[in-house]
Amino acid sequence: MGINRQNYNVDARGYYGKFGGAFVPEMLLPNVLELQENYLEIIHRPSFKKEFDYLLKDYVGRPTPLYLAQRLSQKYQSQIYLKREDLCHTGAHKVNNTIGQILLAKALNKKKIIAETGAGQHGVATATVCALMGMECIIYMGAVDMVRQRPNVERMKILGAEVRAAQSGSQTLKDATNEAMRHWINHPTDTHYIIGSVVGPHPYPDLVARFQSVISQEIKWQLKEQIGTENPDMVIACVGGGSNAAGAYYHYLDRPQVQLVAAEAAGLGVDTDKSAATTFLGSEGVLHGSRTLLMQTADGQVIEPYSISAGLDYPGIGPIHAHLFDSGRAKFCAVTDEEAMLAGIELSRLEGIIPAIETAHAIAVLSKIAIKDKVVVINLSGRGDKDLDTYIKWGKY
Ligand SMILES: *Cc1c(COP(=O)(O)O)cnc(C)c1O
Repeated sequence: MGINRQNYNVDARGYYGKFGGAFVPEMLLPNVLELQENYLEIIHRPSFKKEFDYLLKDYVGRPTPLYLAQRLSQKYQSQIYLKREDLCHTGAHKVNNTIGQILLAKALNKKKIIAETGAGQHGVATATVCALMGMECIIYMGAVDMVRQRPNVERMKILGAEVRAAQSGSQTLKDATNEAMRHWINHPTDTHYIIGSVVGPHPYPDLVARFQSVISQEIKWQLKEQIGTENPDMVIACVGGGSNAAGAYYHYLDRPQVQLVAAEAAGLGVDTDKSAATTFLGSEGVLHGSRTLLMQTADGQVIEPYSISAGLDYPGIGPIHAHLFDSGRAKFCAVTDEEAMLAGIELSRLEGIIPAIETAHAIAVLSKIAIKDKVVVINLSGRGDKDLDTYIKWGKY
């Protein structure tokens, strides 16, 4: 609106408004600078684009369908399209990014890959592309998470990755991140660190958003093919760190007629101490190398988040989302465990699609905001196979 058009994308310094940047220990600066100075040139090379597009098509299975969910639409008296990232190889959108980053690592002549993982989904997506490219792969994971997410630990091992337990602190994601950073400091020349969401120091948020932007690039032409216009009224996505949402929003950021809606995990509720709804409960600070919104105590200690879905159980959001929230460009909804589980069952019953519980948070938004007669795209970030135990334990179906 007005003549000063807002810019929702990253600027040359790695900022989204006042959020972003690269706050890293001095020892890590050379690694980050190497990426900052080279990433755009590399990902714009025709040879890079060609291999990226080829692998997305023949390995990942893109384009993923944009499916008109008829019975769901009927129930909400609207036109709801599901962007089927659940049909990607490995069952979620994360592989779009790991394919891109392993090609970047190769272009930078790196021989080894490290990553951190919480629930194990990003670890599996990373181990997958390392197997594909024959690269050595070390995944750091909190010792507590390794017990909680045993099947994913075994998947990574089957794929040939080494899984290293982070034994410090709460033995969860943030400790795994610290150990991965330490590893990277000690192996700066031969190792690339694959971050799994639009978080971390610049250029990672932009790098990951660009790789995931294939989602909205496809939505545009698929919607045009189906209803004659590229623009839906609304795009809904769940936000953990925010990579699937960033990908689904990317080509709509500068089209204010398209409303952007984010679903955050409220856990047991934003008025309890068991939540992960960052925009409701968070404040400004630095998390994992960038200035963003995060859940922290008055003296700056990161608060352990909680959500029934492991992929949304993160104490911050990427800087792009902090800016979309701060500027009002995106609307944020807090969805409780219970609301998400009910929405997951609803999608299963109405459309025959069992969603990941992360994704179920986005579905739950349908009953929380006004969507009557609107064209709505929901980014179906992943399938529910990995969450079967959680559905069973919850039991109300
Ligand atoms: C990891 C994951 C998420 C959350 O990550 P984002 O970076 O916020 O997209 C959401 N859905 C699924 C299926 C996931 O595996």
